[in-house]
Amino acid sequence: MSYVYDTDNIFARILRGEIPNTTVLETDHTLAFRDISPQAPDHVLVIPKGAYVCFDHFASDATDAEIVDFTRTAGEICRLLGVAPSDGDGYRLIANSGRNGVQDVPHYHLHILAGRPLGRMVQPG
Ligand code: AMP
Repeated sequence: MSYVYDTDNIFARILRGEIPNTTVLETDHTLAFRDISPQAPDHVLVIPKGAYVCFDHFASDATDAEIVDFTRTAGEICRLLGVAPSDGDGYRLIANSGRNGVQDVPHYHLHILAGRPLGRMVQPG
């Protein structure tokens, strides 16, 4: 498996500070910010700071420290938003990947969607 990372993609530009974002949480390896076109009352994107194209690229090539940091940051955001099922109404995580996954931005990102009932998992094709 090999991926070519496009250093001009919009999330790379956000990470370089060339485009503003509404940051929710930032750590050594991870940035989380509000989606510019929210599909739910809460719509946060979690991205690694490293140059990974999609989920499987991140899962295979990221360091353990990056993966742990990313996962814990995503969980922390669910708690910050108050949507963890322990004391909130829940959320959905989505990682669109490639053509069939309809991934628009080729830098791995996790969508956290919450704040309303989100319907069935996948709409008919
Ligand atoms: P995907 O289709 O999974 O690649 O999702 C890309 C997401 O990035 C979409 O939900 C867009 O609304 C979002 N997006 C694109 N540009 C920006 C931006 N400058 N700031 C925040 N979110 C963005």
